[in-house]
Amino acid sequence: MAEKVVIIGSGPAGWTSAIYAARAQLQPLVYEGAETEENRLAGTLPLGQLAWTTEVENFPTWPAVDNAALAALARSALPDDRYMNIAHLYEGKSAHHGRRTVFGPEMMELMRQQAVNFGTRIVTGDIVRADLFVRPFVLTDNAGKRIETHAVIIATGASANYLGLPSEQRFKNHGVSACAVCDGALPRFRNKPLVVVGGGDSACEEANYLTKFASKVLLVHRRDQLRASRIMAERTLANAKIEPVWNSVVDEVVGDDASGVTGVRVRDVKSGATRLLDASGMFVAIGHTPNTRFLGGQLETDDKGFIRLRDGFRTLTSIDGVFAAGDVADPSYKQAITAAGMGCKAALDAERWLAEQGVH
Ligand code: NAP
Repeated sequence: MAEKVVIIGSGPAGWTSAIYAARAQLQPLVYEGAETEENRLAGTLPLGQLAWTTEVENFPTWPAVDNAALAALARSALPDDRYMNIAHLYEGKSAHHGRRTVFGPEMMELMRQQAVNFGTRIVTGDIVRADLFVRPFVLTDNAGKRIETHAVIIATGASANYLGLPSEQRFKNHGVSACAVCDGALPRFRNKPLVVVGGGDSACEEANYLTKFASKVLLVHRRDQLRASRIMAERTLANAKIEPVWNSVVDEVVGDDASGVTGVRVRDVKSGATRLLDASGMFVAIGHTPNTRFLGGQLETDDKGFIRLRDGFRTLTSIDGVFAAGDVADPSYKQAITAAGMGCKAALDAERWLAEQGVH
């Protein structure tokens, strides 16, 4: 029998739509992503981008509290196997001490649990193909299973962009990364200079985070002004361990097979002069591309690949019965809270649409 609604993706948009769809008795099935090395490199592991961030200071209802209070909350809310995923935040040598706001992975575990509590079913797998020109729709997962569904909510988020240099590709996993939280603590980055590329909130967040490990962080930006929000930009420029390298682009990542990255050659876009920055790593934080490849171009997108919504206030896509929420359909805001809001709207839109089709 066909599913009523399948939700693809497991960030704030996916889990919020699951909570709403489950409470509306739609028995949603969530594909949360597969735990593969390919997904790790692409940044598409279960629980989405927030699973790789540190503190989330701007999601309402999460003021700073003592770490022990968050530990008690997680202990009470989560079953043992899920608590274990974040136990290191509360116990052992990497435990946090004192007051803090919620961490991304912690918030995502709690969101996931909230969806589970209302009867959401979850598959830890990827949807690799979608046929949206038949009714019911047909989805195929990475294990080759075929799923029929009357409605689909796409909440697959976006993945980090790279510069596209051959030398960058050569040193991926050997000093080149797009995720400071995933890789920053590796021994190769400790007490060495590091380069972060970009000028947005992500670049600033990565640069600040990396100052915990690096001797200094060189923030290479192609202009002389940060794009980041004011609070983040001010915090970054006030950090004594961060040195901005303005008006500069990366020409080449330098290194060798034995050591990985040893430096980054940058070019001043005004003077054309190049220089080699000594660095044991380069973290790229230059924006994201929406995860829509599995759709094979069946849905209308904008020129950057974001799924186009038919009405800015709704989540309807170019195909009836297919809804989109979160970063995959959001070229403007890309916040956890806006993704959650879109997830809520997508579930309500799907519920209405299914009722119109006589699917209850
Ligand atoms: P972003 O705001 O689009 O910034 C991308 C940065 O990379 C820009 O500074 C851009 O330079 C630079 N860039 C783009 N392509 C480049 C290239 N090929 N070579 C060199 N530099 C390049 O992306 P983001 O920082 O990932 O942020 C995305 C969204 O997430 C934003 O809405 C942001 O507010 C949000 N976010 C929020 C938080 C938070 O609130 N804590 C944290 C992270 C992200 P230009 O400035 O010259 O365009």
